[in-house]
Amino acid sequence: MEYKVKNVMEYVVANKLEKLEPTLKCCKCKQCTSDIVAYVLNRIPAKYVASEKGELFSKIIEFDKEFEHELLILIAQAAEVVRENPLHDKAE
Ligand SMILES: [Zn+2]
Repeated sequence: MEYKVKNVMEYVVANKLEKLEPTLKCCKCKQCTSDIVAYVLNRIPAKYVASEKGELFSKIIEFDKEFEHELLILIAQAAEVVRENPLHDKAE
């Protein structure tokens, strides 16, 4: 079986996190970044597209202010959780 389905939210969250990172006072290693993205993705509805160009879609989609706000709060929350319980010592 072969298919190409992408969760656009992955890109949306990653882009947002990249912009916010300087203000988060959180470890920027691969493990911690992945933990933050996973935390947020588990708490918002996924938006799947049948395309490999998910990154493009994430730029086209416009979100309402309420969702933006929710995303900011979740990212801040995630950063706090990861900062207090970093997994990077155990991994790699
Ligand atoms: Zn780390």
